Amino acid sequence: MSFQSHNPATGELLEQFPSFDAEQVEHALATAADAVPIWANTPLKSRCKRVSRLGEILRVRRDELARLITLEMGKLFSEAQAEIEKCAIGCDYYAEHGESQLADELIDSDASRSLVTHQPLGTILAVMPWNFPFWQLIRAAVPALIAGNTVVMKHASNVPQCAMAIDSIFREAGFADGIFINLMISSSQVESVIRDPRIHGVTLTGSGPAGRSVAATAGSVLKKSLLELGGSDPFIVLDDADIDLAVQQAMLGRFLNCGQSCIAAKRFIVLESIAEQFVTSFKEAVEGLNVGDPMGSAATVAPMARADLRDELHSQVLASVARGATIVTGGEPVDGPGYYYSPTIIDHVAPGQPAWSEELFGPVASIIRVKDERTAIEVANDSDFGLGGAVFTKDSERGERIARQLACGCAFVNGMVKSDPRLPFGGIKQSGYGRELSYLGIREFVNAKTLWVR
Ligand code: NAP
Repeated sequence: MSFQSHNPATGELLEQFPSFDAEQVEHALATAADAVPIWANTPLKSRCKRVSRLGEILRVRRDELARLITLEMGKLFSEAQAEIEKCAIGCDYYAEHGESQLADELIDSDASRSLVTHQPLGTILAVMPWNFPFWQLIRAAVPALIAGNTVVMKHASNVPQCAMAIDSIFREAGFADGIFINLMISSSQVESVIRDPRIHGVTLTGSGPAGRSVAATAGSVLKKSLLELGGSDPFIVLDDADIDLAVQQAMLGRFLNCGQSCIAAKRFIVLESIAEQFVTSFKEAVEGLNVGDPMGSAATVAPMARADLRDELHSQVLASVARGATIVTGGEPVDGPGYYYSPTIIDHVAPGQPAWSEELFGPVASIIRVKDERTAIEVANDSDFGLGGAVFTKDSERGERIARQLACGCAFVNGMVKSDPRLPFGGIKQSGYGRELSYLGIREFVNAKTLWVR
């Protein structure tokens, strides 16, 4: 098995790298295990300083790293720059708050002194996706590292150069041997790594099938797991919504990263009374998008990351249309080299169509027209997924009331769903379990240990 780096804008094979053999995996796990006591006994303040340095390096090397992201997974260069900046902000956040978030918590009890202290678990395996190749890793690894764990990363096979660059920034920031390791392994090697006694927990960001496989293995050996999986987020537009705002947020929410985001708005649930107005404005905005070279400044929509993902998306669109959906705009792969797909809106999405029940991971917006608010909530919750959800209304109290009824991990009112280091992030149902970011994220891979002293 080898890791292949293709340029999604051209389809060209850039480079390939062999995966680790058994001896290299053994060496990596042994090095990570050796580093556990050293890193765990490094004062928390010093661990935070190291992360702060990581943030500085990300900023200094921003354009070089962003270029690599664009080259390997195809997102717009401007979006790749923003991703690196967001990673630096994430480092700043945990460098500043890590100490207080992991501080001992005194608790009144029958003891003279009782408290909860937060201790590291050991080595955590991070299985990562390609769609935000730096940000997903930073948000999973940095809090685990600040908590005193060491981290071994298995990155997606189509972003090996990003994986190697991530390894290099940790080294440059002074993380000694074994504290962070890039494990170049295939997904079929993940199970044996989870089973290895030197691994104490696993976090996976990716698809449902990968999540189920990792969780099953982790469960069979009773190791902690955290899953950040797919979503089919509802984006509800109520009859009293600010349509211009809703369209502006819909454009960002659906077409950022060429639609390849777990928290992208995927199902636009629109009240019938304003549906024509919303669809007309949305169509006009979508037709103004410019599909093109992600390194060029003129493009506003990049290629998709892989040919197979584009094929799958197109088959979901075709199957939805065959079962009654209508194409408002787009609906075709773009001719020529590269994995481009035309920005698409499909309307009259209904039960039985893939666009209703599956995740459409690309630049396709699905419109579902509903008669009233209650039906909008029912449709929003009629999904196996439960990651994010958004509601648009000029009445923010009404928005909050509805947001509370959405079966998801993050609900936004009058804004697209986004991740922010200060706010917990994660899903329910088939979107996974556990939380990343904020004070909750840093406490996922710790032993919250009770101390009772007479
Ligand atoms: P994926 O195919 O599940 O891959 C994700 C990672 O899991 C890769 O490193 C992959 O390695 C590995 N993997 C795949 N199958 C595995 C298995 N059976 N056992 C162990 N590891 C396995 O997902 P993707 O296509 O890269 O990413 C898209 C999906 O991720 C979408 O569903 C998206 O919504 C979701 N996602 C969720 C979040 C979130 O925070 N909730 C964020 C981003 C993406 P290989 O590349 O070597 O196969």
